[in-house]
Amino acid sequence: MSTPTIAANDAGIESAGPARCLTCRECGAEYPLEARYACEQCFGPLEISYDFVGVTRQSIQAGPSNMWRYAGLLPVGPDVNGGKNLQPGFTHLIKADNLAKALGMRALWVKDDSGNPTHSFKDRVVAVALENGRRLGFTTVACASTGNLANAVAAAAARAGLKSCVVIPHDLEDGKTVTTAVYGGTLIEIEGSYDDVNRVCSEVASDDEWGFVNVNLRPYYAEGSKTLGYEVAEQLGWRLPAQVVVPIASGSLMTKIDKAFTEFIKLGLVQASPYKIFGAQATGCSPVATAWKAGVDVIKPQKPNTIAKSLAIGNPADGPYAIDVANRTGGAIEDVTDDEVVEGIRLLAQTEGIFGETAGGVTVACLRKLLAQGLIDPNADTVVLNTGDGLKTLDAVSGVVGPTATIPASLEQFRAAVKEAGLS
Ligand SMILES: *Cc1c(COP(=O)(O)O)cnc(C)c1O
Ligand SMILES: [Zn+2]
Repeated sequence: MSTPTIAANDAGIESAGPARCLTCRECGAEYPLEARYACEQCFGPLEISYDFVGVTRQSIQAGPSNMWRYAGLLPVGPDVNGGKNLQPGFTHLIKADNLAKALGMRALWVKDDSGNPTHSFKDRVVAVALENGRRLGFTTVACASTGNLANAVAAAAARAGLKSCVVIPHDLEDGKTVTTAVYGGTLIEIEGSYDDVNRVCSEVASDDEWGFVNVNLRPYYAEGSKTLGYEVAEQLGWRLPAQVVVPIASGSLMTKIDKAFTEFIKLGLVQASPYKIFGAQATGCSPVATAWKAGVDVIKPQKPNTIAKSLAIGNPADGPYAIDVANRTGGAIEDVTDDEVVEGIRLLAQTEGIFGETAGGVTVACLRKLLAQGLIDPNADTVVLNTGDGLKTLDAVSGVVGPTATIPASLEQFRAAVKEAGLS
């Protein structure tokens, strides 16, 4: 009996859905859909090119309530490992009227990606990377991480039945290390910064024995971020927001929000309307904001020193492309101090009941700063991304918030304490 034929591309490997090939972003050279991230000719980064067929609003709406409703726009087959993944995505888009009022804005939404399985948007990128790792025959998946990616890879590998090796800097929050180790894979801490971690991983990855989600599988990984942009447009009622504020670590997410909106316009899923994309960094690691403000697109690497560790990439691979997105769409890239990050976290929590991690604080604080500078229009529809959960970065606020009072178990004392607090 013959085995069922699977669709094969030039390399003779299993189909990756509508994906056609890898294309160099710099010179346009094309490669088969293998584990490769840089162009052999010019060392430019590779990105997925597609032949989309039959993607309509109806076909998307008929899909599952997770990111696989957009499988027809991703480098994955329709079956996605028979469901052996964490099914991230389709997180809440919350109309943030209280925060809007506090900031003097007319219409503001928070896209809350803390609702993902491991509580950050990284579940999206990992889902697409692992599906391709499996397709390409890897049995071990790995990553260099600032924390959230570590959680996402360890969890998704456990569910997919793959081995994992996660590499992180030694000084991460417990909310990132304990929550990675619990999934049981291999977890290596490097005595150095994320950029040291990344250098070691790039050397290991050149052996090609493991699927490194953000090295040799990076073109697939990066496409997962598009789903955040698709969801924003779909959840707004199939239209694009006028302004979006996006946190920047490597810069990949920012470029993929732009790619998502562009694809939706090209496919006729939304009406073409102008949109501006704004980038947000912490001042303690702001190589992209610094370059943007200087009017250059060459990134000068920095040594990170900020509480926003999930964004602390001193030498961001997609920095120049993020700058291009800001310039092309009429956006900007801003940065905020750690004190402002904490204020941003508290403002979001106190106005909307959403406890974001430091990256969310960065984004909300940058929104406020960009409004004050007149770079963001308070009257245009705006979406701000909260990409992770505050429970992962408790230390950021544990020193500044706490119990209103600690009292003996007595009614008198209780009455006194609430009176003192201004409650009657
Ligand atoms: C990784 C990460 C980002 C940004 O990702 P890039 O695509 O590398 O710019 C934003 N927010 C959180 C919480 C992250 O973990
Ligand atoms: Zn090239």
